[in-house]
Amino acid sequence: MRDLQLYADKCMKKLDALRIRYAKNITFSANTRAVRRLGVCKKTGDRYIIEIASSLLDEIIPEAELYDTLLHELLHTCYGCMKHTGRWKALAAKVNAAYGTDIKRAADPDSDIIAKKPKYRVVCPSCGAVYERYKRSALIQHPERYRCGKCKSKLEARG
Ligand SMILES: [Zn+2]
Ligand SMILES: [Zn+2]
Repeated sequence: MRDLQLYADKCMKKLDALRIRYAKNITFSANTRAVRRLGVCKKTGDRYIIEIASSLLDEIIPEAELYDTLLHELLHTCYGCMKHTGRWKALAAKVNAAYGTDIKRAADPDSDIIAKKPKYRVVCPSCGAVYERYKRSALIQHPERYRCGKCKSKLEARG
């Protein structure tokens, strides 16, 4: 798992370099519940809480997605930036131009990251049980070395 605070600090340094003034008192936390959004920024009194979907801290997810989400939420803490218009939009464009990031208004709710859709799958030829993996693991590369957890029959080689 990636260290959220470490990435938050890196993002704040990126904003510092552009002289963008974000809030000083921000708490970052990872949201492990199933979420429709990759990030959210809440204001309580003079404090901000930025919540990031915990799936973004998984090494399987491209790092760029974590940067984009953190920067998106950090910009909401800037003066007059709670909405995705006006100042927020202008600052997002400035950050994107400086760092090649892709800060968007909102993430596609059907995004693979929110859904955490595994990329690889093996199907048991006997019972149809499905084994899904995010990484090209040994099971994915050599299914014939494994037996189905449900019906115990041999899985078949790819191909
Ligand atoms: Zn937003
Ligand atoms: Zn089976």
